[in-house]
Amino acid sequence: MSIMRSVLLAGAESVWLREKAMRYPFVRRSVSRFMPGESADEALDACRRQQEQHGTGTILTHLGENLSSLSEAEAVTRHYLELIDRVAAMGLDVQVSVKLTQLGLDLGLDACHQNLWQIVARAESHGNTVWIDMESTKYVDPTIELFRRARARSPRVGLCLQAYLYRTKADLEALLPLGPAIRLVKGAYREPPDLAFPKKADVDENYFQLAARMLQPDVPQGTFLGIGTHDEHLVERLRSVMASRPAGPASHEFEMLYGIQRPLQARLVAERAPLRILISYGEFWFPWYMRRLAERPANVLFVAKSMFAR
Ligand SMILES: Cc1cc2nc3c(=O)[nH]c(=O)nc-3n(C[C@H](O)[C@H](O)[C@H](O)COP(=O)(O)OP(=O)(O)OC[C@H]3O[C@@H](n4cnc5c(N)ncnc54)[C@H](O)[C@@H]3O)c2cc1C
Repeated sequence: MSIMRSVLLAGAESVWLREKAMRYPFVRRSVSRFMPGESADEALDACRRQQEQHGTGTILTHLGENLSSLSEAEAVTRHYLELIDRVAAMGLDVQVSVKLTQLGLDLGLDACHQNLWQIVARAESHGNTVWIDMESTKYVDPTIELFRRARARSPRVGLCLQAYLYRTKADLEALLPLGPAIRLVKGAYREPPDLAFPKKADVDENYFQLAARMLQPDVPQGTFLGIGTHDEHLVERLRSVMASRPAGPASHEFEMLYGIQRPLQARLVAERAPLRILISYGEFWFPWYMRRLAERPANVLFVAKSMFAR
């Protein structure tokens, strides 16, 4: 892992830095590149524009991480229930993606399951789907456990897996018999070398192998692969695998973050490749924003320039 990436990911965990940085207008300005606004109204408006102007569906995530009380987790749950109802009333193709720590994962597995299940059941009642984000490694086991519990009750739930973890190959094999919806990403947290590939080239190769595994003919019907990456080389490698073989049982779509690799997003739309854009919103954007900077340290230059912009 590069020093810059390490420093930025350590910064993502700093409460002191968060409290300072969020007050600076130039930081707030540079966040807007990745986030259309803090409120659900602004995010929904961006979803509508994305659908009308580019014909692509979206995924909404309300930013926030660890909580200290179950009542906070219940408030987040109510927020998502209302959001799912609003999406249905607006007739938009918008899914939601939740972080289980926001639904009370640190406060008890059963309570978190209750919250997650309410959201999945509400989405199912509208014919919609819920994604579960993957957080740092200490949450991987309980996240998979809660995905399994929800998946046993409804197919309208998908799980994010991270290609930087050595364990993901085995996790994926164990989940495949379910015919699951899996969003594959490289992984955005600071993980030690005994748990995650330290070299980017190894993460990229593992990503390719895992995605290619899901496209094989022996996976169950209903398997869905969300290709969550902005890596153009990887995208083209996977597209050529798909073009060179008869289609397997798994369906797929590309998934990218709002504001990142816009030319690649436009090209996929023009070439009629299935694409969905993840839009984040909320007031608790600092750690998420630092992870976006860490993904591309050149972004730090962009932030520096924003210091002098009016
Ligand atoms: C839909 C979606 C959902 C995600 N959910 C999760 C999750 O639940 N858990 C998790 O750990 N991670 C999640 N991530 C983040 C993911 O783990 C990676 O950190 C992130 O996608 C960057 O990796 P990459 O695959 O785009 O490849 P990289 O090799 O990092 O990037 C490829 C190219 O994309 C561009 N790029 C990538 N990131 C940025 C950026 N921030 N700013 C500007 N350009 C950039 C650059 O041109 C770069 O060269 C998600 C990503 C996506 C797209």
